[in-house]
Amino acid sequence: MKHLEEYVISIPDFPEPGIIFRDVTGILQDPDGLQLAVNQLQDFLKDTEFDVVVGPESRGFIFGVPVAYNLKKSFVPVRKKGKLPRKTISESYALEYGSAEIEIHEDAIKPGQKVVIIDDLMATGGTTEAIIRLISRLGGEVVKACFVMELAGLNGREKLKGCPVDSAIIYE
Ligand code: IMP
Repeated sequence: MKHLEEYVISIPDFPEPGIIFRDVTGILQDPDGLQLAVNQLQDFLKDTEFDVVVGPESRGFIFGVPVAYNLKKSFVPVRKKGKLPRKTISESYALEYGSAEIEIHEDAIKPGQKVVIIDDLMATGGTTEAIIRLISRLGGEVVKACFVMELAGLNGREKLKGCPVDSAIIYE
């Protein structure tokens, strides 16, 4: 069987010149790749006690739900502004150009619940940092963040103030 990183398709100059886009669909479109990725994320959590998986729109849903299902935890989506139908809280964070706003249902995390964040990729860590702010405002505690891929050169871990991070593939 191939290694997980062999399923990632790297696309130079997407979405703009100088950026290498790491395309996770190469993992998803192969049954072995999908199993490797989900199994690896689950393996990162084998010694972690937690209640809820939180995944951001949209690729955090793809990887977060199978992990939550297999480990019999609940899944809570974080979505872009305006998509969730009930009462939400929101956080903004800086992008390279402009800013983004993400939301979570205000009843989705109960005070004291332990939360694991799952996403396909950590780049600057801005998305994950904003999710941590949302969860702590609801009284939850983020005990770990797990990624299929991490762009380590962007120093995302430094933003997360001691939150443990595990990534299946690390690009320097
Ligand atoms: P961050 O907030 O800078 O850590 O960016 C992470 C978010 O951007 C994640 O939700 C990713 O899905 C997305 N992202 C950034 N770069 C890439 C990439 O090369 N491939 C896939 N997703 C990416």
